[in-house]
Amino acid sequence: MAFIKLDVAADRLGISLAYFRNLIDRADRKETVLDPDPTADFWTSTTAVIPERDLRTYENMLARRRFMRFREKFADVLIDHVELSCRPGWKSLLERVAERVRWMPSEWNVRLRKAREKSGYLVLGFEYDRDQQAACNEIERFREEIRLSSLSMCEECGRQARFRYSPSRSLTLCDRHARLAEPTLPGDGVMADPAFDEGLLSELPSD
Ligand SMILES: [Zn+2]
Repeated sequence: MAFIKLDVAADRLGISLAYFRNLIDRADRKETVLDPDPTADFWTSTTAVIPERDLRTYENMLARRRFMRFREKFADVLIDHVELSCRPGWKSLLERVAERVRWMPSEWNVRLRKAREKSGYLVLGFEYDRDQQAACNEIERFREEIRLSSLSMCEECGRQARFRYSPSRSLTLCDRHARLAEPTLPGDGVMADPAFDEGLLSELPSD
């Protein structure tokens, strides 16, 4: 079996070494990384290698994270170079958005412009005919519907999840992926919607 070093693999995948290490960690694949130096640490090792055949697995993983198939399948309701910056667990939400846009009246000229994770929930941006009041109302309502849905779906894997309140990175995650938002802040588990629940925090005992 052929092995290649991590930095070489990252290079061939067209990503940075730091991003590659993160990807391996998120996919729970750290055990597939071998290191001739038994004292080396996964996050800093310069000697770690992976089986070369695993490159294919990572290519597929990256394609999923970039929503390649989604972009092709729904090209008719996306603007060119649509921004999709969220993790792969929200793919079914993105599909719901695109399907719904297809059903909107064609005279509204609706296209998805961006789908971005912000403070743990999904924020959508659309291009559409803003002179049509019905379109404005429907899009505003729909953005809120999707935002609320995203607050119960793991952004990493799509499972049932809850909002995780974190100083560095608030995210909506399932129990299995909760570690990606660690450490959490006091108020984690109380706050369900960061857009409305900030007030709850002042009622927490401060110690
Ligand atoms: Zn998850």
